Amino acid sequence: MDNYLGIDWGGTNIDIGVVNSSGSLIARSVYPTSSNNTKEKFLELLKNVLALYSKYNIKAIGIGAPGLIDIKNGKIFDLPNVPGWKNYPISKEFGRSLKKKVFINNDANVFTLAECKVGLGGHVKNALFFTLGTGLGSGVVINGELLYARTSAAELAHIPITVNGQKCGCGSNGCIETYLGNAYLIRNYKKKTGIKKEITVKELYERALLGEKAALSVWEEFSFYFGRFLAGMVNLFNPEVIILGGGVSGAYNLFKPMVLAHIKRYAMAPLSKGLKIKKAKIKHAGIIGAALWAASNCAA
Ligand SMILES: [Zn+2]
Repeated sequence: MDNYLGIDWGGTNIDIGVVNSSGSLIARSVYPTSSNNTKEKFLELLKNVLALYSKYNIKAIGIGAPGLIDIKNGKIFDLPNVPGWKNYPISKEFGRSLKKKVFINNDANVFTLAECKVGLGGHVKNALFFTLGTGLGSGVVINGELLYARTSAAELAHIPITVNGQKCGCGSNGCIETYLGNAYLIRNYKKKTGIKKEITVKELYERALLGEKAALSVWEEFSFYFGRFLAGMVNLFNPEVIILGGGVSGAYNLFKPMVLAHIKRYAMAPLSKGLKIKKAKIKHAGIIGAALWAASNCAA
């Protein structure tokens, strides 16, 4: 069985592992992002890691990166939180230096691959994946393949839903992400209660569980926006499963029935029939998905 290097390029850590072609993690090591963030440092880190794992005979390298990626050409368009990588053809440049094939995709897409191919055992052919946290990451699998078009696709968080909405991290305004991210939940709670003190999403969840009205209504509104949005996604993609990961998914048990009810209410009935919502469950999904992305490109 072939082995691949999978890289989960996060804001805090660069998490790297050796993964075989069936998606099992064999070895893993973690490095701080802050000291490995320039092209030179990142490349040096990968050289060292390849030497460290030389006995595994790595066939290719897969990277999951936090930003907008030209998936087809292996180029970084932009990493909003990591300066210095704009329009960088990483697959070509790193591939030449490391003498290995290098494939890159965005982090939500590689999470999607890990959850579908390993988490759900590859049985599900049509799935949507969302990470709920600071922002909303998304990935789409159709007929067993990750969806992308000319360069990328399925940036579902940036579907504009209001005309004069909040400014979004993508540069636009009124995107669905601005109604579902952590900051919106907290802001909405503060608006309802008038409290000034900082509160986390976890506390917001706990307060709702205790029956606090304002906290509950924040989650009800979240479920309304998310459910209506997902109804649209169900009409568009007709998935078997929607998988939810990320920090906000900690409140999954609270919002799942409400979200599902809104999907049923707003989606076309034959398209939402039999739809399941599941919580993401793969540990180290970023590493495993990145390696699977490399493996699927090598097999193509
Ligand atoms: Zn946006």
